[in-house]
Amino acid sequence: VEVINTFTHIVGEPYVLIGSGLEDYTTDWRKRTLGKALAVVLPGNTQEVAKVVKVCIAHNIPIVPQGGNTGLVLGGIPDNSGRQLILSLKRLHHIRNIDVANACITVEAGCTLISIQVAAKKAQWFFPLSMGSEGSCTIGGNLATNAGGTQVLRYGTTRDLCLGLEIVTPQGEVLDDLSALRKDNTGYDLRHLLIGSEGTLGIITAASLKLFPLPKTKSHVWLALTDTHLVLDLLVIARQRLGTYLSAFEVMNTFSLKLVRKHYPEIAIPLLSDGKDYPWYVLLEVSDTTTITNLQPVLQAFLEDTLKDSIVSDIAIAQNLQQSQHFWKIRESIPLAQSREGLNVKHDIALPSAQIPIFVTQTDLLLSKEFRDIRIVNYGHWGDGNLHYNIQCPEGTDPKTFLAEYETNINQMVYAQVAKYRGSISAEHGIGGLKRRALQGYKSPVALAMMRTIKKALDPKNILNPGRVL
Ligand SMILES: Cc1cc2nc3c(=O)[nH]c(=O)nc-3n(C[C@H](O)[C@H](O)[C@H](O)COP(=O)(O)OP(=O)(O)OC[C@H]3O[C@@H](n4cnc5c(N)ncnc54)[C@H](O)[C@@H]3O)c2cc1C
Repeated sequence: VEVINTFTHIVGEPYVLIGSGLEDYTTDWRKRTLGKALAVVLPGNTQEVAKVVKVCIAHNIPIVPQGGNTGLVLGGIPDNSGRQLILSLKRLHHIRNIDVANACITVEAGCTLISIQVAAKKAQWFFPLSMGSEGSCTIGGNLATNAGGTQVLRYGTTRDLCLGLEIVTPQGEVLDDLSALRKDNTGYDLRHLLIGSEGTLGIITAASLKLFPLPKTKSHVWLALTDTHLVLDLLVIARQRLGTYLSAFEVMNTFSLKLVRKHYPEIAIPLLSDGKDYPWYVLLEVSDTTTITNLQPVLQAFLEDTLKDSIVSDIAIAQNLQQSQHFWKIRESIPLAQSREGLNVKHDIALPSAQIPIFVTQTDLLLSKEFRDIRIVNYGHWGDGNLHYNIQCPEGTDPKTFLAEYETNINQMVYAQVAKYRGSISAEHGIGGLKRRALQGYKSPVALAMMRTIKKALDPKNILNPGRVL
């Protein structure tokens, strides 16, 4: 009680939540895991964050930093001990500054991703980070997980978009590194250490982010293909021929689209109809920032050649903004349709692009031999070598029972295949609590030892997000 009063004193009574009704903070997005928190504390500024951390150190209270709670690896919810404190950054939601001369925006960690996109656009600039959860996820969470999303092909991951951070250290000190310099080689790059550290090395309270010219022209094409090798051919040619125009290359297998059709029948899916569907579909986006552009003729010639060379079998071109948005809506409805279909086994993996066709063919075969009638939902940002290779249980089977029996085996088989082709068991979602054990098996022991040394040096009391990542 005493410590709760201290938190109340720091942040104000409405911003310390205890007791029942905390499920939005304690349950993960997939509704698979429910934790138990000592309290949820919502500071209103960086100084309050620092004070809360100091109180936690004094009372040995583990802290779980939380943004929008859209993470998919159990990194932002507490365990079920009831001892961990959720430190929600949601009230730090101000855009601090837009610096046109330096093409950068400085924002607080609790800003939702969409609010940053909107603020940039209002100022006639573009912030390219984009993903299905952008209405709820926060930039603090994006940075803490080094999120990827749909525009990595051209603009890079969140790491590539960040010029500086403000953080509260595990000792409750504030580090202001928001000068947003594009060049600064004064020793170890702490910003990059914090990005992707999933709340284990510091609490991000603000960030300076790169802005880009607003795309003036955009086109979206929906392509149907018959084979993974052809998808790879298409990617290679798209990179060569479309160059910097190419801004997204998303691939979906037929089953992932059939799930969308089943759960969202109002969403029409181009080139997918009974009796005429293809194994693979690609959503390709091209854009240009100038109005005097060659984009349309370049795209037209590219599409004609891919048809002529039988790389693609059919093409639908979005005729207007509404159709473009519709194409994206289909893609973004896949994870939602999967949730509606029921519990599933998710893998967010990365592979060298050239190995994707063999990986998919072999792994599909291995899994369907071992687990009859399983359904594979395979989609993702193939342009970055990132697959969401997910397994839905056989139709008519109880997902809970299926997962309890087979999830571990399925994970082992998929990750062994990933290791065989020198891929990664986490492309963009992170490790959190979910993949912590798997990390021990698939990361180099030398790298793990260095990571443990860093964690111990920066957070010797193991106050920040214990039990996640390491
Ligand atoms: C429908 C859907 C689509 C998605 N699509 C993508 C995608 O395309 N690409 C992708 O990469 N991810 C995707 N995700 C995953 C998720 O949205 C991202 O990981 C996102 O970056 C998490 O942000 P958040 O604010 O919700 O973080 P949370 O879930 O609250 O937290 C995630 C992790 O970051 C830590 N953390 C949060 N805020 C801070 C902070 N301020 N300081 C320090 N640590 C912090 C937490 O402790 C936790 O470990 C998707 C999720 C959903 C539900």
